[in-house]
Amino acid sequence: MTNEMKALVKARPEPGLWMEHRAVPEIGPEDVLIRIRKTGICGTDIHIWNWDDWAERTVPVPLITGHEFAGEIVDMGRSVEGLAIGQRVSGEGHLIGKQSRQSRAGKFHLDPETRGIGVNEPGAFAEYLRLPAFNVVPLPDAIDDEIGAILDPLGNAVHTALSFDLVGEDVLITGAGPIGIMAAAVARHVGARHVVITDLNPDRLRLAADVADVVAVNPREQDLGEIVSDLGMKEGFDVGLEMSGSQAALDQMVEALVMGGRIALLGIPPGKSPVDWSRIVFKAITIKGVYGREIFETWYKMIAMLENGLDVRGVITHRFPVDEFAEGFEVMRGGASGKVVLDWG
Ligand code: NAD
Ligand code: ZN
Repeated sequence: MTNEMKALVKARPEPGLWMEHRAVPEIGPEDVLIRIRKTGICGTDIHIWNWDDWAERTVPVPLITGHEFAGEIVDMGRSVEGLAIGQRVSGEGHLIGKQSRQSRAGKFHLDPETRGIGVNEPGAFAEYLRLPAFNVVPLPDAIDDEIGAILDPLGNAVHTALSFDLVGEDVLITGAGPIGIMAAAVARHVGARHVVITDLNPDRLRLAADVADVVAVNPREQDLGEIVSDLGMKEGFDVGLEMSGSQAALDQMVEALVMGGRIALLGIPPGKSPVDWSRIVFKAITIKGVYGREIFETWYKMIAMLENGLDVRGVITHRFPVDEFAEGFEVMRGGASGKVVLDWG
């Protein structure tokens, strides 16, 4: 192994990402070194590319970006146990602290000190990634590298969808981005009766209907109330999964929910957004905010479901060799794609 690698770097505080040569990371006693095979481009990476206000406030420059990956262990620190050189892995990109109340209670995903690879710490858009062995998730043979590279956003979908019991329930998902579409597939897989997904973008609605057994609706063209009666539902949706970050979508969701309905919020509104709280109170609605993935419960559930027939491959619409990364980002920025996967060879 040479000690230089290719890496996709936020090298300057301006729009863009740059392919540069960097030193291969040195690992500590509790880390592994992963040779990256495939990576997924995330909405977060688009914010970092665009260098918007959030990115400027959050991301140190220079930084190797990227957090969705699959690869192979090529080196291990001396204290690492239970993993092996040559093992195919993905991993949790949230690096947690071990001191907080929640972390000590075993709720690692609620640790307030969490730092993200590719956002606060060197990331996975590189030939090699250093990761604490704690964060590593081995991949079974049934999960190939490109699915391994999208387990992070699939994990967001699974974490959100499994927030409430969906068996026999009618589910409304607002936002047919990659995560909304995968959440729809998960909701069907675990036994929801009807799954309706909304978006304003016709390309996204088409993709949703291709990938999952859902009713895809543009709320500007079709009234959700009509859909409810067409499907023979009496009182509205039981569970809502908000995956657009749009205030209008949340309003529609509250309106379309049954009394006592439940909402899981994953979508991130751009700033403060007005909410009709009295409507939520009088409908006795439960709202849960969802951040990241449960470490590691979400990973266990998602891998088990993938081994047991959950199929989300259709959400990957584009694949590029990493040297064509700019094209991959262009496609993602266009807003018509599903997941875009980069191949690191
Ligand atoms: P995305 O931007 O690809 O998808 C969002 C979709 O919502 C788009 O297709 C857009 O057309 C649609 N949309 C916009 N307005 C709408 C409306 N009024 N009604 C219905 N649909 C509407 O995003 P994604 O990668 O699929 O992620 C989904 C959301 O989850 C985003 O808001 C993202 O920021 C957020 N997210 C949160 C976490 C977390 O940990 N909480 C993690 C990852 C992503
Ligand atoms: Zn991501």
